[in-house]
Amino acid sequence: MNKYLQIIRRWFFVIFRRKYVENSVKKRKGQCRNCSCCEVKLLGRKWNCSYYNSKTKQCRVYNTDKMRRTCFYYPFDERDKWDEFKDKCGFFWDEARDSEEAAK
Ligand code: SF4
Ligand code: SF4
Repeated sequence: MNKYLQIIRRWFFVIFRRKYVENSVKKRKGQCRNCSCCEVKLLGRKWNCSYYNSKTKQCRVYNTDKMRRTCFYYPFDERDKWDEFKDKCGFFWDEARDSEEAAK
């Protein structure tokens, strides 16, 4: 999906479908592999968050109160993952795996 449509989708879901987002995050499994999705480029420029340590590829405030809510919610479902990180991201849902298996 186009990144900008994904961003619009994110904000729409976070604002208007917060329950869905929170339930889905609760069911999320796995863990962050620090594969650097915080470095994603928008409008041709790198997103520059002051909490991001580009050497270790880690968030300095990961899972603390300082971490933005929207970051904590990433990814809130499979469609929320940036395309280039779909295969790298360490988070997953059993339902998604089940339907992938069923489609094989
Ligand atoms: S707060 Fe952390 S997870 Fe969110 S963009 Fe910044 S570095 Fe990335
Ligand atoms: S794509 Fe997933 S595993 Fe990789 S840094 Fe982002 S949240 Fe973490």
